[in-house]
Amino acid sequence: MNEYFISLLHDLDLELSERQWNQFHTYYDLLLEWNAQMNLTSITDQDEVFLKHFYDSLCLLKARPLSDQTLLDVGSGAGFPSVPLKIMFPALRVTIIDALQKRIRFLETLVDRLDIDVELIHGRAEEHPRKNHYDLVTARAVAALPVLSELCVPFVRPGGSFLAMKGPNYQDEIKLMKHGLDLMNAELKGVLEYEVGDYARSIIMVRKIAPSSGKYPRKFSKIKSKPL
Ligand code: SAM
Repeated sequence: MNEYFISLLHDLDLELSERQWNQFHTYYDLLLEWNAQMNLTSITDQDEVFLKHFYDSLCLLKARPLSDQTLLDVGSGAGFPSVPLKIMFPALRVTIIDALQKRIRFLETLVDRLDIDVELIHGRAEEHPRKNHYDLVTARAVAALPVLSELCVPFVRPGGSFLAMKGPNYQDEIKLMKHGLDLMNAELKGVLEYEVGDYARSIIMVRKIAPSSGKYPRKFSKIKSKPL
């Protein structure tokens, strides 16, 4: 996989330094060590983790170039997609919010071992005060788009983007999300389809046009029972 991973990164115009190479290996080792005690990932084979977690996270680059933007990763779990992105783009200013305390504990140890600077917040996105607005808000495998967009879009600054990383079956969810985007002053910019090995993947790209009303996001029970 080492060679294959490097060649995939070349296709994204990325070159790994020795430090980044070591960081990915440290990440893999720690993921496996903690996974023995808590559920962080069902994928444990090294080649598969490098492909389906690390490379897939970096595929966000297909949607837009990255440098020193502010990025909020909602429901990052074991750090996807934001930690691989932070490894490759050290100037990126990453904040992670996750509802599960034990995942945040894993991430605290991870960022310490990787020697990277990431802000970690334990909490639910819809309950977190929206004091900061971000250039980019990402979410991978967190919820269906009509729910996810209400959790994420209010955190995007006008002109910024919400990028949802999904599988191949997004069409119905997109239809159901559009009205909510209007209400929150955002618009669908497009969908990018790509492949990771044999798996069809997609990135749903949403642009924020103007600030969202302070009434969004609503309480989770409302978001779930009556998506916008
Ligand atoms: N993004 C990671 C990935 O691609 O592997 C993790 C996906 S995991 C299936 C979903 C994560 O979202 C969990 O860690 C969960 O705690 C978190 N989550 C779900 N709803 C959330 C919410 N409303 N606010 C913050 N985190 C949430």
